[in-house]
Amino acid sequence: MEMNCPRCNKPAVKSGKLIRGGGEVQKYLCQTCGYQFWEGQELRSLGSNPPCPKCQASTQKYGTGFKAGEKVRKYRCGSCGHVFLDRSLEEVE
Ligand SMILES: [Zn+2]
Ligand SMILES: [Zn+2]
Repeated sequence: MEMNCPRCNKPAVKSGKLIRGGGEVQKYLCQTCGYQFWEGQELRSLGSNPPCPKCQASTQKYGTGFKAGEKVRKYRCGSCGHVFLDRSLEEVE
């Protein structure tokens, strides 16, 4: 099955599997922009905050934190108050 990159809409190639939610999903890699995504990934528009990983509510920026020595954005859930780091290290200002 052909998949297109959600970011640049060019064809993407399969790049291994990912265990997610107890099941295996197909991972894809865009050869044009290098974006990685997986089947069934909840697509969010670029620039918007990621949803809370606990309750899926909307979040607000909450400063920056460090993950594996890299600066990443921190977000705070407006519903449950959960604070988390952005998963995607490729999103930079
Ligand atoms: Zn792309
Ligand atoms: Zn939450």
